[in-house]
Amino acid sequence: MIVTMLGTNGWFDTDFGQTMCTLIRTRDYSVILDAGYGIRRIKELVDFSKPVYLLLSHLHLDHTIGLHTLDSFHFQQPVKIVVPAGQKQAFAELVRPPFTNPWAKMVPEGSELLDTDELGTTAFPFEISTLPLQHPVPDHGYRLGIEGKTVTYLCDTGFCDNALTLAGGADLVIAECGALPGTVMDKPNAPHMEPELCARLAVEAGVSQMVLTHFGAGAYTSIPQRMNAVAAARTIFPNLITGVDNLEIVL
Ligand SMILES: [Zn+2]
Ligand SMILES: [Zn+2]
Repeated sequence: MIVTMLGTNGWFDTDFGQTMCTLIRTRDYSVILDAGYGIRRIKELVDFSKPVYLLLSHLHLDHTIGLHTLDSFHFQQPVKIVVPAGQKQAFAELVRPPFTNPWAKMVPEGSELLDTDELGTTAFPFEISTLPLQHPVPDHGYRLGIEGKTVTYLCDTGFCDNALTLAGGADLVIAECGALPGTVMDKPNAPHMEPELCARLAVEAGVSQMVLTHFGAGAYTSIPQRMNAVAAARTIFPNLITGVDNLEIVL
C-alpha cells in the first residue's frame, strides 16, 4: 500500500501545507483519513472506479472543510463515510445547504454514512477498530489492518491510554503533532501532542514507524521548523518521520 500525506497542517492552510488529509491506496480500494483541503489532491491519485472509504476522526473544520468539494470527484462506486459515534446528525448539518450541497447528493447513490458504533453492520475489505481520543469534541482514532499490516491514525488527541492501545505494535502510526516542543509535556489533559510526546507514545506502544502530521499552522511557521522539532525527538524514537504535504510512505 501507499500512504500519501495530502494535507499536514492543523487549523488552517499555509503556503507550504494544507489542512488534514491522508490517503491510503491499495490495489483494490482507497481509504481517505479526514477531509481538510488536502483532499483536493485525491483527484489525481485515486482510482475512482474502485471503492473509496472516507474515515473522519472528528468534525473540526480543519478535518472537514474539504467536504464541500466532494462533488468535484468522480466516484464511480458508493462511498462509505465514517464519523465518530453520535456525530451523524452533526455531519449532515455541516454538509448541507446553505453551506454546500447535501452530502448524499455529492456521492453516488447507495453511499452510506456510518458512525463508529455501526461499523459491525457493514462489510469492509480491511480490519477496522476505533476508540475515542482525548479532544474537546467527540473524536475517534482508527486502527486498520490492511494487506497484513497495521496502520493507526491518531488525530486529534493528547497522550492517552486509548491512543496507546490503538497504536500497539503498529507498522505505521500517523500521529498528530499540533503543539510546539515543551508546551504540553506537563499537561496530561492537553488536546494535542508535541514531538517528544509522540516519540514516547511510539516507544511505549512498540510501533515500527511513526509519521507526524497536523502541525499547528499558528505554531509551526516553516518546514525547517517542523524538521528541527521532530529531529530533536528522534533521540527517543529514531523512526520518527516529519510529515510534509505529498510525502509518500510505501508499506
Ligand atoms: Zn485539527
Ligand atoms: Zn481538532
